[in-house]
Amino acid sequence: MTKPDTPVADPKYRRLVTLVAEAVNLQKVGYLLFWDQQCMMPKGGAAARGNHMALVGRLAHERLTSPEVGQLLEDLRDLEASLPYDSDEASFIRVTRREYEKATRVPPELVDRLNRIQNESFQVWLKAREAKDYRVFRPALEEAYAARRDLAEALGYKDHPMDPLVDRFEPGLTVKDVEGLFDELRTALVPLVRAITDKARGQADPAAVLQGHFPHDAQLAVGREAVRAIGFDLDTRGRLDLSVHPYTVDISPDDVRITTRVNEQYVGQSFFACLHEAGHGLYAQGIPARFQESPLGDGASAGLHESQSRLWENIVGRSRAFWEFFLPRMKEHFPSLGGVTVEDMYRAVNKVETSLIRVEADEVTYNLHIMVRWELEKAVFDGRLALADLAEAWNAKFEEYLGIRPPDDLLGVLQDIHWTSSFGAAFPGYTIGNVASIQLYERALADHPDLEAQFARGKFDTLLGWMQRNVHAHGAKFTPQELLTRVTGRPLTAEPYLSYIRRKFGELYGV
Ligand code: ZN
Repeated sequence: MTKPDTPVADPKYRRLVTLVAEAVNLQKVGYLLFWDQQCMMPKGGAAARGNHMALVGRLAHERLTSPEVGQLLEDLRDLEASLPYDSDEASFIRVTRREYEKATRVPPELVDRLNRIQNESFQVWLKAREAKDYRVFRPALEEAYAARRDLAEALGYKDHPMDPLVDRFEPGLTVKDVEGLFDELRTALVPLVRAITDKARGQADPAAVLQGHFPHDAQLAVGREAVRAIGFDLDTRGRLDLSVHPYTVDISPDDVRITTRVNEQYVGQSFFACLHEAGHGLYAQGIPARFQESPLGDGASAGLHESQSRLWENIVGRSRAFWEFFLPRMKEHFPSLGGVTVEDMYRAVNKVETSLIRVEADEVTYNLHIMVRWELEKAVFDGRLALADLAEAWNAKFEEYLGIRPPDDLLGVLQDIHWTSSFGAAFPGYTIGNVASIQLYERALADHPDLEAQFARGKFDTLLGWMQRNVHAHGAKFTPQELLTRVTGRPLTAEPYLSYIRRKFGELYGV
């Protein structure tokens, strides 16, 4: 990394660093309040906690958008232009400017309105789910879409009004990029899913071995053993706790908290949630400490973060080699698995099934679940689909892509809160993560062809070290396309993902 001699001494640069550090630290206080709310807080704390979180959110926003920050960013343009693009200092100024511009374009009233809609619509969503009736949820969705259109206008765009919403999650990516990726995936995956499900029909359920009784504490112990094995530091720089929805909170690279949920009848749920969140956690623990109080101290994007969780959950955790290493350990915790072979386990954790629920979907069908959501969201945004017709459109598209039709709205359009909990365009990040995970892994494999043999021996530090050097080390310096091009020689590309899926599941299902 090129280290310039002067900029660190530049008083304006130092001042910007100090001001932005306060904004970032306030944001991290907000993360901690959120973690506590999800994992520790008694229910009664909800109202007061809402006030606390709103306050630190507002303070962080005020710090970042202060006129002084704006002036410093202007004054530092020459310095930035004189530095190498990938230097810490130029990257700090560039990424701070990007975040500053996004934050100042949106009027505070609109931020409040979006937050209010998020909070209120959650209760409406729960009611609608209880009634299994989309019509209960629709008014909240109307409000959310009106606010998102205003958000898009405030942020500004050249081609498509959803471009700035996509850019909030995936800096530099546009609707056109997402569409191009999805077109390629759709063409290949829809017939592949048909072929696999035709083949699997009438066969014994390979995942039956994952059903039974698996005691809660033993599942947590297994989860801890697995995340330690892949290199997540649970002892001095991380924690694993329980919550309703698994997630990862990074307070700093030395304080990364992951969560899981346990279903005693099904051992796969908590196990893969642990590996998934530990993947996010490894990314967070791998970001250099010098970025800690800076906008660079984050992943490159939501999709790139997801690439790391999918890497450990799917590419590693659902490989034969991983189970050669881990099955004997799992049997120590669950003697009922005594007769299960590595091959049984490999087939069980890679069962392909056209299910109605996204979060339970396998590697092959998962992206079709995302596609249904993205296409409908975009159709609503384009005015081609009325919200009144959303539930029916969902069912029709689901049947077209996955060959099954949800029996009610609860198993259909009402399964994700994302429709109103994000500010739009939150879905593509999941697919971008799946695709990027393979693209990065193939590059790592080219450098270290014996990775799988290493997994079978319980050795994961070569792969982790590669990701740390090539991905984690840069924090948020680069956009997702810049990072992928730098590391793999090309931007986000569907082809490596599709050939991985064809190879792996072709062999498993004989198609
Ligand atoms: Zn994730």
